[in-house]
Amino acid sequence: MTPDKQDYHRKLTLYLVVLLFLAMIGSILLIELAHPFGLYIWIALMAGGLYLLVRWHAANSRYECGHCGNVFKISARADFISIHSMSGKRLICPRCHRRSCCRAMPAE
Ligand SMILES: [Zn+2]
Repeated sequence: MTPDKQDYHRKLTLYLVVLLFLAMIGSILLIELAHPFGLYIWIALMAGGLYLLVRWHAANSRYECGHCGNVFKISARADFISIHSMSGKRLICPRCHRRSCCRAMPAE
């Protein structure tokens, strides 16, 4: 694994862990202690955190088509709604227009 790829996976893992940690702490502090408005604040904070994570991931990732090898970027919306797997995402290639499991890699 290249240093760029290690840094990419390290940052992605760190962002996920921070978001999950804030979700747990926020659920205890906001939902339990500030009932009933704490739930709405917690949902807004989690939605904002998820939005920032997906936006960061879309801006810092690119995908390789499983059929033609084309490397392309996707929008934050496509990043959010596409089906994930351990090896990549199920996407439609903009060059060959075929659906495949596209391998994720860090953007340059
Ligand atoms: Zn393709």
